[in-house]
Amino acid sequence: MVIKQDSVVSLHYTLRDDAGEVIDSSASGRPLSYLHGRGNLIPGLERELQGRRAGDKLSVKIKPADAYGEYDEALVEQVPRRALTGVSSVRRGMQLRAQTRHGPRTVTVTRIAGDMLTLDANHPLAGKSLNFEVEVTGVREATDEELSHGHVHGPGGHHH
Ligand code: ZN
Repeated sequence: MVIKQDSVVSLHYTLRDDAGEVIDSSASGRPLSYLHGRGNLIPGLERELQGRRAGDKLSVKIKPADAYGEYDEALVEQVPRRALTGVSSVRRGMQLRAQTRHGPRTVTVTRIAGDMLTLDANHPLAGKSLNFEVEVTGVREATDEELSHGHVHGPGGHHH
């Protein structure tokens, strides 16, 4: 059967940035399983997988707009260290939940200069093209329970 809206898809994938660095991969473990057409994967990858079958292999480059979005300078802000309550030691690269101008967000500390911190609320992969190598290992119909929950149960899927 082919991948269509509400198929349960299992796949192995390797994700690289434009420099060829591996960002993420399913290779060491079990295949990833997801419910197709529900926004569980980035839109560009769902579009590429539509109509594929078990056994298909593909190599695709997804532009930022179809992945985690363009990088937005407006989501970067400087705050004094004391603005982070409940965080005892701040390191560059750490991620935390913070109150920002745009509401509560997961932010990355990208710079520490004296008492001032630079917080970046962009997704870590915003602005990046994503290069996927994918092998579809299985396609099946979703169960009624999976459809009502909006995610996959069982091996490689959601845990309760
Ligand atoms: Zn569930």
